Amino acid sequence: MTEYDAIIIGTGQAGPGLARRLAGSGMRVAVIERGRFGGTCVNTGCTPTKTLVASAYAVHVARRGADYGFSAGDIKVDMKRVKARKDYVAGLSNQGVERSLKSLKNCTVYEDHARFASPHEIEVGSETLRSDRIFINVGGRAAIPQISGLDRVPYFTNSSMMNVDFLPRHLLVLGGSYIGLEFGQMYRRFGSEVTIVEIGPRLVPREDEEVSQVVAAFLDREGIGVQLNAKCLRLSQRDDAIVMALDCEDGQREVAGSHLLIATGRRPNTDDLGLDRGGIKQDARGYIEVDDELRTNVPGVWALGDCNGRGAFTHTSYNDFEIVAANLLDGERRKVTDRIVAYALYTDPPLGRAGMTEAEVRRSGRRALVAKIAMEDVSRAFEKGETEGFMKVLVDADSKQILGASFLGASGDEAIHCVLDTMYAKAPYTVLQRAVHIHPTIAEFIPTMLGDLVPLGT
Ligand SMILES: Cc1cc2nc3c(=O)[nH]c(=O)nc-3n(C[C@H](O)[C@H](O)[C@H](O)COP(=O)(O)OP(=O)(O)OC[C@H]3O[C@@H](n4cnc5c(N)ncnc54)[C@H](O)[C@@H]3O)c2cc1C
Repeated sequence: MTEYDAIIIGTGQAGPGLARRLAGSGMRVAVIERGRFGGTCVNTGCTPTKTLVASAYAVHVARRGADYGFSAGDIKVDMKRVKARKDYVAGLSNQGVERSLKSLKNCTVYEDHARFASPHEIEVGSETLRSDRIFINVGGRAAIPQISGLDRVPYFTNSSMMNVDFLPRHLLVLGGSYIGLEFGQMYRRFGSEVTIVEIGPRLVPREDEEVSQVVAAFLDREGIGVQLNAKCLRLSQRDDAIVMALDCEDGQREVAGSHLLIATGRRPNTDDLGLDRGGIKQDARGYIEVDDELRTNVPGVWALGDCNGRGAFTHTSYNDFEIVAANLLDGERRKVTDRIVAYALYTDPPLGRAGMTEAEVRRSGRRALVAKIAMEDVSRAFEKGETEGFMKVLVDADSKQILGASFLGASGDEAIHCVLDTMYAKAPYTVLQRAVHIHPTIAEFIPTMLGDLVPLGT
């Protein structure tokens, strides 16, 4: 048995930063990784998908050449080169994480599957490691739904999609939320026929209805098929086609494609971690239960990142590391609940989100103000020829603080940070309203918009 001052399981977005801080403070640290260094974001999530989104955007703009006054001739997408670019960019991050951990003083890297043997003992390969401080950063993977016939057809997940170096003739995407929409739009732009199948009554169902409507409209304009209310699904193989029957009762609606991507959600990598032997509590969906400082029920064991169910993003996982490191090493008392909800959907145009949706504000019953501007009234968007979408901000009528915002439009993923930073400052919206922003930018219209707040009607 080898004793360490700290053991970190997983090298996603929290583990490597934490390893650097702990090892830097003089602790002897063991880091265990069973897969690719850097985890989901680096290898099968954010980095590769945003690299592919960038290729798809370039193709899209080239096809719109006439709108901008040029002709690019016959546009051909070479998927092998698109994939090679993606592999190169993602590879840099993956190798960077691996190199930095393996060269870190006071840090020993194990490349194998880790499993709890007891609350403070971890089995890795044929060895057992022991520590008073164990940090779980095991992330998650694609959840595979129970669908009749799914076991008899081939399908991709976000992970296996990373190996695709050809153009699917017709990609069926099961799941009309963040991951499904990003893949759906990019493959349409690469040249595939695409049909997105969503079980609910609208796309991105967690967002406000007007977000779903605008997203549906721009996907439709790009020729992406969308099937909603696909409640009862059956899958089968017919010759070389994958066939989805969408209404089991009447069996009328069906859609056939050449390839299928499952994008119906995520599940934590906790089922093979020996949590029962560690005595570590999880909820009904397998997420590790943690308190506001990310401590599990077992003293000396923390859970960070997607596996604790308190966030599902790279920035939330990284912030988990910051919270734990600050509390352990810097004598601070940082908490998860200090974090404001924020994320983006990387369709084109993207959606930047901060805080509450309008629906959540309404449900909260508080007095609120709302301001909205269409992107076609934003000069920078107009100049760029990217006028789809809108920006919307919600303000608490009493405290004057911003409650939330949805920016669906060009640079919405960047401009949202003006709102987010004002929220973190707990400043009234008037601070942002009186700021002089640069012309011409998308963010320039946030102060203008805040001058037109009206009561949020019923
Ligand atoms: C397609 C897609 C696109 C995404 N895009 C974005 C985006 O644009 N922006 C964003 O913020 N988020 C995005 N995300 C989410 C983001 O990738 C995750 O929230 C983030 O990677 C979570 O990091 P993590 O630290 O929790 O764990 P992970 O990154 O999942 O890392 C966990 C690591 O633990 C290892 N591991 C697991 N079990 C064990 C074990 N028993 N023993 C040893 N090692 C183990 C795994 O191999 C893995 O390397 C996306 C996700 C997907 C799937």
